[in-house]
Amino acid sequence: MSVVSIKPKTSSKKEIKEEIIYDAIIIGGGPAGLTAGIYLSRARMNTLLIEKAIPGGQVNLTEIIENYPGFPHGIAGPELMQKMEEQAVRFGLKIEYGEVEEIKIKEDKVKIVRINNQEYKTLTIILASGAEASKLEVPGEEELRGRGVSYCATCDAPFFKHQKIVVVGGGDTAIEEALYLTKFVWEVTIIHRRDRLRATKILQERVFANEKINFVWDSVVTRVLGNEKVEGVLIQNKKTGEEKEIPCQGVFVFVGNIPNSNFLKELVKLGKKGYILTDDNMMTSQEGIYACGDIRKKILRQVVTACGEGATASFAAQKYIEEIKGVSYR
Ligand code: NAP
Repeated sequence: MSVVSIKPKTSSKKEIKEEIIYDAIIIGGGPAGLTAGIYLSRARMNTLLIEKAIPGGQVNLTEIIENYPGFPHGIAGPELMQKMEEQAVRFGLKIEYGEVEEIKIKEDKVKIVRINNQEYKTLTIILASGAEASKLEVPGEEELRGRGVSYCATCDAPFFKHQKIVVVGGGDTAIEEALYLTKFVWEVTIIHRRDRLRATKILQERVFANEKINFVWDSVVTRVLGNEKVEGVLIQNKKTGEEKEIPCQGVFVFVGNIPNSNFLKELVKLGKKGYILTDDNMMTSQEGIYACGDIRKKILRQVVTACGEGATASFAAQKYIEEIKGVSYR
């Protein structure tokens, strides 16, 4: 294992401590981060992954993944992520839990990542902190969050047994989650701002065939109604301007994602929507810092693309580390 060690400037023999400079620190333990962890650990790069909650990221919230190759009948999101974590740890990946408080770059190219008030040094960083659910940003949404407003069907569906709920959005997530919700609820109304779904065709076929699901097209939610609990939503038709109330006990919001990149604004170049800009090798605008997965600006956000990018980022980082150390194994 390649570890660069430095000694503190002034210290007695007893006090001398070896200070680890990691080859790579990965921030985020979703499919992109864990794949980078597998590749770097197998390349015998001393690698630390920092995760703020549980490894797995948004995939942990997905009941079943049907389009990750190798699983003809699909695999449960949490199960797939558990296997990825197990695989990475088996090859030597270390995992620390905490939220990144600061990232600094020193003149000698060493980077410092602070979590839980403790500093970790590294030659490279792989940013893989993913994205989180966008909000509707309408009155009532925040106030009734957890009291009928939800962003996760797999977490909250059992609370809505035999009730009437609405799902907002028309992408893959909205449609997959609406289908999942029908196992619990009495009726699902999908409210979509256009007259056509964005979701992939196979999901459309399933959702149109499901008798528990109905649609309100060309409409947006303008207010979530209720005092203690959700009692309905106020919607507006975008074509006619007409407003109406839909009574319901739950509002599940799936209107896309926002990248978890706020803490990186000063560090790397971001696109207009906050996604990190990289080159084809996943290198960001900052030397020795790479990005992969949902935090990156790209056209396709899937587990399989996140994994591919994690592999590319780790390989590019490995080459950079070898250059710095003046060694090359290929
Ligand atoms: P998405 O693809 O960005 O879709 C967001 C949906 O919400 C769109 O239908 C959009 O409408 C609508 N929307 C956006 N802002 C809105 C607002 N303010 N009010 C009302 N509606 C709004 O997001 P996603 O479904 O979460 O998917 C994110 C990525 O993950 C996608 O790349 C998706 O393919 C991927 N994903 C893949 C799978 C899978 O492969 N099984 C599963 C889940 C997610 P418009 O259509 O009019 O823009």
